[in-house]
Amino acid sequence: MLQRVAVVGAGAAGLCTARHILSRPGHFAPPVVFELSENVGGTWCYDERVGKLDNGLPVHSSMYRDLRTNLPKEVMMFPDFPFDPQLSSFLPHQEVQRYLERYCQSHGIEPHIRFNTVVERVKPVVVTAEGEVEERTTWEVTSSDSSGHQKTETFDSVFICSGHYSDPHIPHIPGIENFKGKVLHSHSYRFAEPFTGQSVVVLGAKASGLDISLELANVGAQVTLSHRRPRLTFPLPAGIQQSSSVEAVEDDGRIRFQDGSVTEADVLMFCTGYNFRFKFLDAAQLGLDIQDQMMSPLYRFMVPPAFPSLFFIGICKIICPFPNFNCQVQFALAVLEGSVTLPSRVQMEDEVRRELQEKLERGVQHRHLLILDQDQWEYCNTLARSAGFPLLPPVVRSLYEEVWRQRQIHPKNYRKLNYRLISDLQWELIN
Ligand code: FAD
Repeated sequence: MLQRVAVVGAGAAGLCTARHILSRPGHFAPPVVFELSENVGGTWCYDERVGKLDNGLPVHSSMYRDLRTNLPKEVMMFPDFPFDPQLSSFLPHQEVQRYLERYCQSHGIEPHIRFNTVVERVKPVVVTAEGEVEERTTWEVTSSDSSGHQKTETFDSVFICSGHYSDPHIPHIPGIENFKGKVLHSHSYRFAEPFTGQSVVVLGAKASGLDISLELANVGAQVTLSHRRPRLTFPLPAGIQQSSSVEAVEDDGRIRFQDGSVTEADVLMFCTGYNFRFKFLDAAQLGLDIQDQMMSPLYRFMVPPAFPSLFFIGICKIICPFPNFNCQVQFALAVLEGSVTLPSRVQMEDEVRRELQEKLERGVQHRHLLILDQDQWEYCNTLARSAGFPLLPPVVRSLYEEVWRQRQIHPKNYRKLNYRLISDLQWELIN
């Protein structure tokens, strides 16, 4: 019998899941993709609105108006689906959205998406069918459409592709209630003009913190880029100064930094990342511990050992997202098809525990345990080897690493470069 798969979300991860399911008609029925908005693309579907929508749901996308990708299209693409070759390497977000729409159309995914349909609950049901000895898990997925009509359906497996850049992580700052200016998170930042002439303390100097600081400085804001990383060594443009992390807000509303200095500011902008939130899951029931920036145990960063027919796609951080999703999905489908056999629950739990322990012993902070970074290539290749699909071409890694190097040296200008892939092994800089 064909397996029925539910996919939560029609962003890049959900589309990739649907695409691979549809290419295996011998094993799977067409998927049911639930998408709470009226569009595909998820993060890449820019929405100028902030806060809650008319339907009571919060805005999902954290995209800002002038964002250009921080990876070149040659590396960002799904390995089997190139971007338009006429485009430059670093793209405005609209081009990524167009790319995902084209991906959806080319693979005939759209008829399988239920738009404006929110997944409210995903619940495992353990059954023993008549005449069978072994227990089997099926999944009840409860969703509601735009007219509020609720429905519960049963699936053999579920892919969670709901993204994790929507629920702002805001660290506690003692005395924050004394701050007299505006407080916002990068999730609600759209463009820089309203901040012209203002003094803005930006907390966090990762991708968004740095990008937004550059945008703000460009329109004449005075930016204090506060972070706990080693001091950035590349030249920052006029209008941006670095400082240590924010320690507290004083009684008079001034911001105090760790080095003891204090400043007044009009705006406090948190670029402090996002929390994992899956309102539709009961983590304890699934044997998962989901904290703000960490969730565990997930075998191969995907599978809760207690429920190996549930898959989380795209949970890792500091990765090359689309190629990573493409590997995870193919591995997960190989598990469902039976061509990959997962270890026992106990073995999977042990392996996850061992891996995390090793990372902690290497000094990795608990909230950074899902960062793959250098390990992402071996991770993808391990999935590919065990499930028997093509490895990522080595050129993806070498160009990705070159771009990271350029980003460290020229954070303002690295996006002006253009690259071309020559072969699976080589790329060249074209201008
Ligand atoms: P999302 O794109 O978030 O999609 C999740 C989908 O699930 C959404 O459509 C949402 O509506 C839907 N959904 C959520 N909950 C439910 C529910 N309960 N029921 C039904 N539907 C639901 N990556 C790059 O490769 N290059 C970049 O340059 C880059 N820049 C980025 C810049 C920003 C500001 C951000 C936030 C991310 C950036 N990323 C970048 C990472 C980006 O998030 C990934 O590339 C990718 O788009 C994530 O896809 P996803 O499908 O996992 O999640």
